[in-house]
Amino acid sequence: MGRTLTILGSTGSIGRQTLEVAGAGGHKVAALTFGHNVKLAEEQARRFHPKLIATPEEHTAADLRARLADTDVRVLSGEEGLMEAASLPEADTAVSAIVGVAGLRPTLAAIDAGKRLALANKETLVCAGELVTARAKARGVDIVPVDSEHSAIFQCLQGAHLREVRRLILTASGGPFYGMDRKALSLVTRADALKHPNWSMGQKITIDSATLMNKGLEVIEAMRLYGLPLERVDVAIHRESVVHSLVEFADGAILAQLGSPDMRLPIQYALTWPDRTEGPAKPLDLFSCPPITFQRPDVETFRCLGLALECAKTGGTSTAVLNGANEVAVGLFLEEKIGFLDIERLVEGALERVKPVQDPSLDDIFEADRAARQAVYGLTR
Ligand code: NDP
Ligand code: MG
Repeated sequence: MGRTLTILGSTGSIGRQTLEVAGAGGHKVAALTFGHNVKLAEEQARRFHPKLIATPEEHTAADLRARLADTDVRVLSGEEGLMEAASLPEADTAVSAIVGVAGLRPTLAAIDAGKRLALANKETLVCAGELVTARAKARGVDIVPVDSEHSAIFQCLQGAHLREVRRLILTASGGPFYGMDRKALSLVTRADALKHPNWSMGQKITIDSATLMNKGLEVIEAMRLYGLPLERVDVAIHRESVVHSLVEFADGAILAQLGSPDMRLPIQYALTWPDRTEGPAKPLDLFSCPPITFQRPDVETFRCLGLALECAKTGGTSTAVLNGANEVAVGLFLEEKIGFLDIERLVEGALERVKPVQDPSLDDIFEADRAARQAVYGLTR
């Protein structure tokens, strides 16, 4: 069935691939949101004819409005603009692909408007998972994960009951610095960290993959999506990125989803679920696959993963503090203002300074995020 989409973060890595999938699969596009890439937003508007495009800043919106003066596309700015795009009545599906906690409010707006949620923005679940899933349940909204590991698990769980699940096993490539010791890690550069061995993604998630924070965020994402405790979500380093994740059932059977590392497949599945259709994703050639291996992660060397697992156990606003501090630290690393190991040092420092609140409201979560950011800036001054 063709769907009508609102794509939050259409100019990003997931947003662009969603448009490829939409173009190939005959899905319509009702609304788009973006950050700063006006040129690409204009191209997307001319190709996909959305009714509405929104962007946070008015000067960016004014630029796009001028570029699209010969069309009837409405261009809005500010949080209200993003919320209107997220809840546009014409769309039946929202693809949540803004990076970071900036995606939280628009994602909630899409849920409140009753859209199917194709969720890539893991930070939303890390910061406010219980709130988001409770709201989706109350509204009768399906959350279909786009993150490749969670999509793999979602696929393995089709037709199964959660009570039959012993544990989820998330695979991790290990990133570009797999096997390095702390001394070597202290010397890696921004350029080294941006070279992911298997996936091409936005800059923030690429750095998170290098620190293994990404896997920590994904453990929390999986716990929130399925309401499982930390003891039932494991991580296995799997260098080849062929097995996208696994589910172990009560009888000891393990199901896995395999594929080439191509995000267009999980994106497409989130749109077409429960159906499967032809699509642009590259098929996996079993006979040219490397041998498949699994190892335990090293949480001592890759401290960000250890910190995330501690926050997963603590719960409450600790995961929002973890995320907010990490967003700022990764930004500083990308600006080459701090070193690679400073990311974990700053996140740990913020976690020591900002005390967690249990059963948080949305306001508590935004306050924890703000305090975490301030703590990191304080530590770098
Ligand atoms: P990108 O950085 O490539 O894209 C982010 C998108 O969000 C862009 O459209 C950007 O606009 C927009 N944006 C950035 N900041 C803001 C803001 N403050 N307000 C509104 N819009 C904003 O990220 P990715 O596509 O890589 O990732 C998106 C999400 O999906 C992340 O949460 C990531 O963890 C998750 N994900 C990504 C995967 C991937 O393969 N890329 C895999 C699994 C999950 P602009 O560029 O115009 O400034
Ligand atoms: Mg992932």
